Amino acid sequence: MITVNKILINHFGVPERSKKLPDPLDLLIATILSQNTNDNNSYKAFRSLKNKYKSWDELLHEKRSVIEKIIRVAGLALQKSSAIKNLITELDKRGNISLNFIQKFNNEKAIEELTSFKGIGVKTASCVLLFALDRNVCPVDTHVHRTTNRIGIVSAKTPDKTFYALNKNFPDGIAHSFHTNLIRLGREICKPAKPNCGACPLAEICKYPNKNLDNTSTGKKRDFMLLDNVGT
Ligand code: SF4
Repeated sequence: MITVNKILINHFGVPERSKKLPDPLDLLIATILSQNTNDNNSYKAFRSLKNKYKSWDELLHEKRSVIEKIIRVAGLALQKSSAIKNLITELDKRGNISLNFIQKFNNEKAIEELTSFKGIGVKTASCVLLFALDRNVCPVDTHVHRTTNRIGIVSAKTPDKTFYALNKNFPDGIAHSFHTNLIRLGREICKPAKPNCGACPLAEICKYPNKNLDNTSTGKKRDFMLLDNVGT
């Protein structure tokens, strides 16, 4: 993993990160909005919510259907508005509409707490740990799952299994660059149907048996990363 991280940094650079960590609840809501859409649309939906409500407390008495309309640009608005509304309602029942309480937990317990909310899975919970708590945890989305399995770092059938295999002995201090650069690799080069191995900086060490070495185009770059912009 350390070698892969170094090669990716040489190729893509050290990913930018805002100096101020975002609020964990902001980050969790942004991550819910980011599911199955691109970062630009989920950022628009997140900004629309932040502009309309001064604090998340105001969502407690807001109709779910109103939230659905506000976040429509992010897609899956019914499911996402339900998950957000449920999260706020549950936090209120626990006494405070905030996620600051998870700061005191270790990584395992924090993931257990976050995934106890309906609609919050391991990927979403681990994004909160990395991006809002600055823990050395690598979330596994579809890109990280595909690339780490192709490279041969892990061998796991689902993103959640990849997450636990990857994070078992994760090297210190590299989670943010490793995660972010693997997403860029997956979006721009190691695409699902046809990886562009001819343009891949990892081609020499990658164990994927079906490499496509024909095409050397580097593809279209998409640098904007939602979860690095939640606190800005
Ligand atoms: S060599 Fe090909 S399969 Fe391996 S990581 Fe690079 S693009 Fe993906």
